[in-house]
Amino acid sequence: MNITKNMLPESKYGLKSPYKMKPTRIVVHNTANDAPAKNEIAYMIRNDKQVSFHYAIDDKEIVQGIPEDRNAWHSADGPNGKGNREGIAIEICYSKSGGTKFDNAEKLAAKFIAEKLKEYSFGIDKVTKHQDYSGKYCPHRTLDKGWQRFLDMISAELNNEQVEPSNDTINELKLLLDTLNEELKVYKNTITAKDSEISKLNKEIGDLKAKLDKVKDIVN
Ligand SMILES: [Zn+2]
Repeated sequence: MNITKNMLPESKYGLKSPYKMKPTRIVVHNTANDAPAKNEIAYMIRNDKQVSFHYAIDDKEIVQGIPEDRNAWHSADGPNGKGNREGIAIEICYSKSGGTKFDNAEKLAAKFIAEKLKEYSFGIDKVTKHQDYSGKYCPHRTLDKGWQRFLDMISAELNNEQVEPSNDTINELKLLLDTLNEELKVYKNTITAKDSEISKLNKEIGDLKAKLDKVKDIVN
C-alpha cells in the first residue's frame, strides 16, 4: 500500500504530538471539508492549532503526517483520553460534499484500516469513531451512510486478503523458468539437428533417384 509522507517537524511535536504512543485502536474521522489529503496534512502541519491526526485519505492517496508511535490531538477526550493518547487518527477526505470522491476515499480508507488491523493484530472492534470519545457527530458522512456499513467494508477487505508471494517463492519460480528455458533450448537444438539430418536424407534420396533414372534409361 502506497503511503505518501509529509511528516510534522519535530519542532512542532510539543504542540501537536507531545507523547510517545503505543496504538491500541483506530479512530475514524471525516474532514468536513472538500480538500484532498495532501492539503489536509499540509494545513495540519502549517497551522498553530493544537489539532493533529496521523493520516488523511482521499480517493487517490494516503498521506501520513505523524508517526504511529506518537500521539495526536483529534478525539477531544482530553490529554489522557484513550482516543487522543492511543488512537491512530484517520481523516477521510471530501466528506463535506460527498459523492464519488468521498465514496472512493472511504473505500481506500477501509483498505488501509484493514491493513492496519492485520499489522497490529487488532480485531474489527478496534475500529472506533471520534463520536465514541467526545460525542461529536464525526465521522459525519460515514455515520450518515451507516457506521456498520463502513465496518462491513473493512471486514470485506480483511476476508478478501490477497496472499502476496514471498521472495523465496518468486526466486523458486524464476529458477524454474530458467530451467524450462534451458530445456526448451535443448529441444530446439535437437529439432534443428533433426531438420538438417532430414534434408541430408532428402538430398541422398534425390541422388539415388537420379541414379535409378539413369539405370532405367540404360536398361530401356
Ligand atoms: Zn473527528
